[in-house]
Amino acid sequence: MNTTTLSGKRLASLIQQRAQDQARLAQHEGIHPTLAVVVATDDESTHWYVRSIERAADRAGIDCRIVDLGPDATEQVLTSVLKDLSSEPSVHGIILQTPLPTGVAADSLVGLIAPEKDIDGANPLSLGRLAVGRPAFAPATARAVVELLEHFEVPVAGRNVTVVGRSAVVGKPLALLLLERDATVTVCHSKSGAMETYTRPADVVVVAAGRTGLLTGAHVTEKTVVIDVGTNVLPDGTLVGDVDEASVTGVAAALTPVPGGVGSVTTALLLLHTVEAARAQFLPRASKLTVMA
Ligand code: NAP
Repeated sequence: MNTTTLSGKRLASLIQQRAQDQARLAQHEGIHPTLAVVVATDDESTHWYVRSIERAADRAGIDCRIVDLGPDATEQVLTSVLKDLSSEPSVHGIILQTPLPTGVAADSLVGLIAPEKDIDGANPLSLGRLAVGRPAFAPATARAVVELLEHFEVPVAGRNVTVVGRSAVVGKPLALLLLERDATVTVCHSKSGAMETYTRPADVVVVAAGRTGLLTGAHVTEKTVVIDVGTNVLPDGTLVGDVDEASVTGVAAALTPVPGGVGSVTTALLLLHTVEAARAQFLPRASKLTVMA
């Protein structure tokens, strides 16, 4: 079996180009799309990721403000910063980057991000709106999976899709987006038991668990398209997904690589969402916020 590699690089650059084109249009309309990324950690991989967003934003003509509060930021400080950014007219998109300082929970903080600026779908209001088909930004990673499947013309309507992981940022919103596209969705989690029961009958398997080597060749068949959302940093600094690439290659029909798969598309979508948010906030009648996927 020849397993096709579904690289996200071409799609990411197409989306990045769309964000750039729309940002240019916005500039003509007198809007300067601006993304604020709030960081409160000294975790080096987080800072590396935030710098990569900043560089991509710069290329797309989007202002990116890194609000670095340091690893000792208190919940009060984070609350105040998020409230200020939510009411600041020159900021159109807000991301609260995790991890947060020990003892500070993201749950209540993300609820402070104004829904129209919630370009990574972190506010529970955004998830609730997605659930009932109301206008909202989907988390960029969940949308990236859907965009990848569309880009590679992998049908989901009427097909079985199994999502491994049920977090509010990936698994649950992704299940909603797939249901919206008429897929029959099964969601697995750590208590599901024998995973192959759910993954082998599926046409598409999306793994978003954060567990190295979780999905192996025994969990898939020659018809399975595998989307690997996982990002795990090994002790030697190598980035790997949740899929045991060696054993799945040669068994499954197709597989996204890590890095170079879902992650690259996610970053481009954050930028596209920012420009869409900016235009929707500035020109509410001309560009209305729709379900963003
Ligand atoms: P999370 O909040 O830790 O959720 C992980 C989910 O996986 C949970 O629902 C958990 O089940 C489930 N799980 C854990 N072990 C499992 C097992 N052995 N079998 C089946 N399910 C299992 O993680 P997340 O934020 O959703 O992120 C998931 C992965 O995606 C991480 O590697 C993260 O780094 C990556 N990620 C990548 C991007 C990107 O742009 N590429 C963006 C976001 C996240 P329970 O609910 O039962 O605990």
